[in-house]
Amino acid sequence: MSLENISMAKLAIAGVFFVTFFVAERLVNAANQPKDLPRLLRNGGLWLVVFALSPFIVAPIAGLGANELLWRRPEWMNEGAPAIVVFIGTLLALDCWTYWLHRAYHKVPLMWRLHEIHHRDEFLDTTSAFRFHIFEVVLSALLRLIPIALLAVPLQMVIIFEALLLSTAIFHHSNVRLPKGLETGLSRIIVTPSIHWVHHHARKQDTDSNYAAILSVWDRLFGSASPSARILDMKIGVEGVEDQSLLRLMLMPLMRRRP
Ligand SMILES: [Zn+2]
Repeated sequence: MSLENISMAKLAIAGVFFVTFFVAERLVNAANQPKDLPRLLRNGGLWLVVFALSPFIVAPIAGLGANELLWRRPEWMNEGAPAIVVFIGTLLALDCWTYWLHRAYHKVPLMWRLHEIHHRDEFLDTTSAFRFHIFEVVLSALLRLIPIALLAVPLQMVIIFEALLLSTAIFHHSNVRLPKGLETGLSRIIVTPSIHWVHHHARKQDTDSNYAAILSVWDRLFGSASPSARILDMKIGVEGVEDQSLLRLMLMPLMRRRP
């Protein structure tokens, strides 16, 4: 399968998820959905840059990892292992990697400089799932080469994982209202809006918690689960700072910071 087809398949899955949850959160929302066009344009603008450049930068990086860096597969993943074990093991490994990468984005100042742009969003909905600076997307793709190379992850698996990651990100950023029992049940297995909204709470203690992307178990396992519960009118964003214009957000990683 060509890189172009692979990107299209991932895009189609993410597109279906996005449209479904974008409509759902406007019909059945948890918090009051603001009519904030400038915010939508900011999130859309950041996404457009990533969308336009991904086929030329991000997809070839994934291809390079899967096709060129095939190191020796670990023993347990050798041909003898049942396909389902390899499949689940790879997804778990990539999800666990994504958890630690996200944690690093919060703890390493140079990485936070990129990730902060995602957190400056002052509301959360499906569009927030696409609000990432192109530098962060490229850095994440480059760093993901490490587990891809170490585990010799086939390109198809990388795409399945990325499609899964994108779909879950759309879901856990969304403002859709779910029946309480369903959300509580789901949150024991996967990251739900009730978990991820706390991560976007404009309170440093909460922002530095709930890092998991797909499975919620990583925060409980590695001691980063927030004890806070989501409150629908909680302030979203970064404590002490405000959102910026699209141009400023684009330039933010390059701008000199006040000490
Ligand atoms: Zn974060």
